[in-house]
Amino acid sequence: MAELVDKLYKKSNLSDDDFLNLLESEDSEVDKILQERADEVRQRYYGKKVYLRGLIEISSYCKNNCYYCGIRRGNSNAQRYRLTPEQILECCKNGYILGFRTFVLQGGEDSYFTDELLCPLVSEIKRRHPDCAVTLSLGERSDESYRRLREAGADRYLLRHEAASETLYSKLHSPEMSWENRRKCLYTLKKLGYQVGAGFMVGAPFQTARDLLCDLRFMQELRPEMIGIGPFIPHRDTPFSTQNGGKLRLTLRLLGILRLTFPDALIPATTALGTIAPNGRELGLAFGCNVVMPNLSPVDVRKKYELYNDKICTGEEAAECRICLENRIKSAGYDVEISRGDHIKLYK
Ligand code: SAH
Repeated sequence: MAELVDKLYKKSNLSDDDFLNLLESEDSEVDKILQERADEVRQRYYGKKVYLRGLIEISSYCKNNCYYCGIRRGNSNAQRYRLTPEQILECCKNGYILGFRTFVLQGGEDSYFTDELLCPLVSEIKRRHPDCAVTLSLGERSDESYRRLREAGADRYLLRHEAASETLYSKLHSPEMSWENRRKCLYTLKKLGYQVGAGFMVGAPFQTARDLLCDLRFMQELRPEMIGIGPFIPHRDTPFSTQNGGKLRLTLRLLGILRLTFPDALIPATTALGTIAPNGRELGLAFGCNVVMPNLSPVDVRKKYELYNDKICTGEEAAECRICLENRIKSAGYDVEISRGDHIKLYK
């Protein structure tokens, strides 16, 4: 099994069967070698740098009803909030002082955030912080909206594809959501010149190794600049409340595979990974991650952006999160990088 890791390390690709074997192998030697190789490859391209992105959760309203997500519209127990443009600018200001040079505005699909509201907001963030990147993560919008937001100054867009297998996609989402549209959105974003982040949950209900293979093949085609994955964690008020979640070993296995398959990708050690294990994000870094996204949202709304049970970092001020993560990064043997942290575009 270990030789499969070396094959992937050398070629950044494997046959379908080899990928499946690697994904399913119970051999603990695989994890050890994968970690070594993944760490070597990330160090080759990114050194020991770990990029910071300040995450601002702008709205917990959502018109969608994804079966896994705690802020789905059907969850009547969810506490809803939205930040005003002034509050968002304030978060950016705090973040800037704390050394962040990327702001990620994430939220549910909330019709309050029209282009008329968002475009001037994005422009204003860029005007106040010209040395910063603005990333949006606001779900599916029209091509026209993506275009206007890009023109207003947005640099990047995170939209996890969630599942590249159409069958799995339809098991995770309500019928009004379409796998085709999700993919279309991602290709549109690419075409508009956004740096794009795709990704999926690991251990989502019904997900098989073949589905994961499908995700890898899709991303080889899309070539996103960032790949965000994290373990599925159930939320008590969703249709998936009784499903198993939290597959740490498989998530780390996939992170290693991603690093070897996409050597130049930006790969975050996600909050979900930190939620299922106290040292989850440090382990992620060891398996090739090179980005962390501390929370910059105002503390009084943190708990309301509850995508899954027991989400961490909902009690601390932004400054505390920043310091905590810096310590974690340093103790794992890496360095915090204070810059926009754009993708290095190895293959373009
Ligand atoms: N509305 C935006 C942002 C979604 S939240 C969009 O559609 O892109 C960001 C990510 O959190 C989602 O893409 C999903 O992959 C992840 N997520 C949602 N519910 C989750 C859960 N129960 N466990 C783990 N991750 C979850």
